[in-house]
Amino acid sequence: MLRLTELKLPLEHAPGAVEAALVARLGLRPGELLSCTVARRAWDARKRSAIELVYTLDFSVRDEAALLRRHARDGVLARTLGPAPDTTYRHVTQARTPLPKRPVVIGTGPCGIFAALILAEMGFRPIILERGKVVRERTKDTWALWRRSQLTTESNVQFGEGGAGTFSDGKLWSGIKDPQHLGRKVLTEFVEAGAPEEILWVAKPHIGTFRLVQMVESMRAKIEALGGEYRFGTKVTDFIVETGRDGLRRMRGVVTEAGETIETDHVVLAIGHSSRDTFATLLQRGVHVEPKPFSLGVRIEHPQSLIDRARFGAFAGNRILGAADYKLVHHCRGKGLEGRSVYSFCMCPGGTVVAATSEDGRVVTNGMSQYSRAERNANAGIVVGITPEVDFPGDPLAGVALQRRWEDAAFIAGEGEYRAPAQRVGDFLAQRPSTQLGEVIPSYKPGVTPTDLSRCLPDFVVAAIREALPAFGRQIAGFDMADAVMTGVETRTSSPVRIRRDASFRSVNTLGLYPAGEGAGYAGGIFSAGVDGIRVAEAVGRDMAGLEAAA
Ligand code: FAD
Repeated sequence: MLRLTELKLPLEHAPGAVEAALVARLGLRPGELLSCTVARRAWDARKRSAIELVYTLDFSVRDEAALLRRHARDGVLARTLGPAPDTTYRHVTQARTPLPKRPVVIGTGPCGIFAALILAEMGFRPIILERGKVVRERTKDTWALWRRSQLTTESNVQFGEGGAGTFSDGKLWSGIKDPQHLGRKVLTEFVEAGAPEEILWVAKPHIGTFRLVQMVESMRAKIEALGGEYRFGTKVTDFIVETGRDGLRRMRGVVTEAGETIETDHVVLAIGHSSRDTFATLLQRGVHVEPKPFSLGVRIEHPQSLIDRARFGAFAGNRILGAADYKLVHHCRGKGLEGRSVYSFCMCPGGTVVAATSEDGRVVTNGMSQYSRAERNANAGIVVGITPEVDFPGDPLAGVALQRRWEDAAFIAGEGEYRAPAQRVGDFLAQRPSTQLGEVIPSYKPGVTPTDLSRCLPDFVVAAIREALPAFGRQIAGFDMADAVMTGVETRTSSPVRIRRDASFRSVNTLGLYPAGEGAGYAGGIFSAGVDGIRVAEAVGRDMAGLEAAA
């Protein structure tokens, strides 16, 4: 199989045009092309008047070696034509029977699900512990917060089957390095579980909330059929760590809230970024936990049509392009803000802003959308990067304390019932509180309170966002429109801690503990969390099978 990259075609082309362009580009003779599939389709909107589709094609011809020789000296083709990579997933080992102690996976977010799947496929029959409820029950609890201001602290946007990304836009792209093509395994499993097949080849795939719920159920069924065992409503509240004669600390088991001890020598810790009580327990048990940078800010909403026009011009609304997204960064220059950056985060085209707290009396925002991305507003986090050295020095959980402080302030500014504080961009820039909102109707449920967002964010974050918004307005016309709405606060952008691990994916000071995914500071997003889950499961499998760790 060969691969050709960078084949450009006009946005609206005839169905057969792709193969015809391939044949023309390579000068193939009639009948020489045996098969052709699209490996990737992106678009190039740098020239808004002539948006193009950019294809990567996998294809076969009778004599591949001869074709490669024929074009070896052709400048562009020498760069864009070559063998297609082998993306087949192969397990690193298989369990021997009888199985010693079973591995435990804590958490059923994308990281825990993929760790459990790979362990189950290798025959290790993992036990999977989840503090929250099965996804259907969890959905009801989550909607109860959005509709009736009723928060269930163990079953919400952060906690429960499927993890934090279940009620999301389901964006699946990521900039991670993936030389082993583990991401292909993630996407292939998602398709098998019910995701649209296009996620295998569109450049910026997304799934949307509705399908994610079904997919999570379907993946559970597969893991159970392979011998995995799920236990919901089972919060891990303690870790049994033993120090051997060699002075090394080893994981020997976990204790659940109900008081049950599960003996195990291998724990995959895939607890996400909001399991603050578990971070504290790990620290108490002497596990190495350190603070790490994250970001603070707000969610901003604009009419989606404004973003579409700014990004796609006359092609706004085109069915292939869909609802437009954006990615913005501003490096601050103002006095006292030198070195700060403001950036857009988790942009959700045609979506809604959601209440994403997991703790009583706190307000947190995030964003989600359905597959259709058909809601009126575009939303994104507008956040400022912060670091432990400068912004929250002290103990490893100082970042958690900082998050809580501003989530409390947002609850107070929202005037209770989990309403979020909101402000028009025009008022925010003019440094006056909003008393009413304008053309852009905020989508956050259970509702917003117009106010002054500077009450619920550090001064430097407010100043940095004030500097960034006009700069963003120069990149996307109208971004700083007076009636755009900002809702706060966006605090759960990534984990405030890193649970550091070594080259074998084990905690640096506790053998048998495998920190993984977003909560441990090794992933940011559904796709990268899934890939990390696979990597960690492979490390556990190798250790259980007595194999050397991978180089
Ligand atoms: P999580 O998904 O957070 O899963 C951790 C799981 O562990 C949870 O189910 C939790 O209940 C469980 N748990 C925690 N502690 C314990 C314990 N002590 N005992 C038992 N169980 C425990 N990312 C994207 O890539 N695209 C998006 O479009 C996107 N949108 C998002 C929208 C929202 C509203 C949110 C909140 C997040 C979004 N994200 C998105 C981020 C994404 O969800 C996370 O990066 C991803 O879920 C991290 O996966 P994880 O498995 O590491 O952790």
